[in-house]
Amino acid sequence: MANGNLKLAIQKSGRLTEKSLQLLRICGIDVENYKDRLFVTAGNFNMDILFLRDDDIPEYVQDGVADIGFVGENVVLEKRADIEIVKKLGYSRCNLRIGIPEDEELRGIKELSGKTIATSYPNILKDFLDKNKIEAKVIQISGSVEITPSLGIADYICDLVSTGTTLKMNKLKKSFSILDSEAVLIKNKNLYSNHEKNSLFIKLLTRIESALNARNSKYLMMNIPKDALENIVEIIPSLKSPTILNLADESMLAVQSVIPAEKFWEINDKLHRAGATDILLLPIENIIL
Ligand code: ATP
Ligand code: ZN
Repeated sequence: MANGNLKLAIQKSGRLTEKSLQLLRICGIDVENYKDRLFVTAGNFNMDILFLRDDDIPEYVQDGVADIGFVGENVVLEKRADIEIVKKLGYSRCNLRIGIPEDEELRGIKELSGKTIATSYPNILKDFLDKNKIEAKVIQISGSVEITPSLGIADYICDLVSTGTTLKMNKLKKSFSILDSEAVLIKNKNLYSNHEKNSLFIKLLTRIESALNARNSKYLMMNIPKDALENIVEIIPSLKSPTILNLADESMLAVQSVIPAEKFWEINDKLHRAGATDILLLPIENIIL
C-alpha cells in the first residue's frame, strides 16, 4: 500500500461504520465492495480506506499505519494515543456515564468515594476521579459491564449510555455524566511533513467541512406579497442576504435563503403570519463558504 495514497482508518463493522461511509459519500468519495475486505482504494480520490476494530484506530494512526481516522472521542481518550484530534464530526453521539442500582441515590460525585466501579473505560474514569480528588476502586471489564452490580463484583458502573434501556434491564439507572462523545477526525502528528499526503488531507478536510456546514443548514424558499418584503427579510435568520426574485404575478416575489436548520419551526409561523405561502425547506449537500 506504499502508493502515496492518503490512508483513512474507519470502523469495520459497528455503530460508526455506516455514518463514516455516508460522510465519505457526501464528500464525493466512492467506497465500493468493502464487505469482508481489509482495505479498499477509493474510486475517485487518492485514498485507501482501512477497515479496523474501532479500538485499534488511534494506535494505527499514531504509528502511521493509517494517516487519519474517523473514531469515537471516547476511544481516542481511553487509548491515550499520541495523535491530533482535528475535528468533531457530529455523529455517533453518546454519553459515558455512571450507572447505579435503581434503589440508590447519588447526590454528589463525592459519594463515589470508596465505591467499586466497573468499566471498559478505566483511563477516562481514573482521570475523572483524579481530577475530582475522589478515591474509588476501578475495575476493568471488557464487555457486559452492566451485569457487574447484580453479580456483586461492583457497586456502580461507568459505561456508554444512550437511551438507558440496557441499564433498566439490569435494574440500574443513569447517574453522572463523565464524558460526552462523538465521532472525531484524527490525524498522525507527522502527516504535515509528507507534502503530497498532506495536500490530499487538506483537500479532504475542505470537503468534510463543507459537508458539516451543510448538515446544519437548509435551503428555504417561499412566495410573498411584495409589500411584506421588509417584514419577511427581518424574520429570516439568513447566513447571507436572501435572494429575491420576481414572479409572473407582479404583486408577488420569491424569497430564497440558507438558514440554520434548527430555526425553521421557530420562524415558520411568523412567516405565515407575515403572508408567506408555498414555503419549501430543502436539504443541502455541501456549502463552500
Ligand atoms: P468493534 O468491534 O469495532 O470493537 P465495538 O463493539 O467496540 O466495535 P460499537 O458498539 O460499534 O463498538 O461502538 C463504536 C462506537 O460508537 C463507540 O466507541 C462510541 O463512540 C459510539 N457509540 C457507542 N454507543 C453508542 C450509542 N448508543 N449511540 C451512538 N454511538 C454510540
Ligand atoms: Zn471496540
